[in-house]
Amino acid sequence: MEFITKPLPANKRVALVAHDHRKSAMIQWCSRHRTSLQKHYLLATGTTGGKIEAATGLKVEKLLSGPLGGDQQLGARISEGKVDFLVFFWDPFEPMPHDPDVKALLRIAAVWNIPVACNSSSADMMVQSALMERSFGREVPDYQCYLKQR
Ligand code: PGA
Repeated sequence: MEFITKPLPANKRVALVAHDHRKSAMIQWCSRHRTSLQKHYLLATGTTGGKIEAATGLKVEKLLSGPLGGDQQLGARISEGKVDFLVFFWDPFEPMPHDPDVKALLRIAAVWNIPVACNSSSADMMVQSALMERSFGREVPDYQCYLKQR
């Protein structure tokens, strides 16, 4: 696989997902970083997004609920280059009916090399990074080259 460098913009599209037992942690995290988050574009799976909006007043684009396809919608957005940072508080204690979708979302985030935070301490570090407010280059698969080789 060949790679090219593409920028992640200063103004980021931040995707937010939390499983049910992790939603309160997500809301606390969003409240703690409200000032920073309101400078960016927020999108989320349906229930997570609704709860964040109600608790913090932040504006969030809400996709379908995770078990109904919301994780897959986010995966598609990542593949299309439309998500710059994924905050995904998945539940390490509960099996999920949509576990294949959860794995697929984490996999596609790794393929397209976007920053991913799966717990609040990682998310705290990333949102406070200087790179949150400025553009920076990341390596992604060279799709044109990949197509030519096939
Ligand atoms: P939800 O989906 O935000 O609609 O609860 C999250 C998930 O379970 O993936």
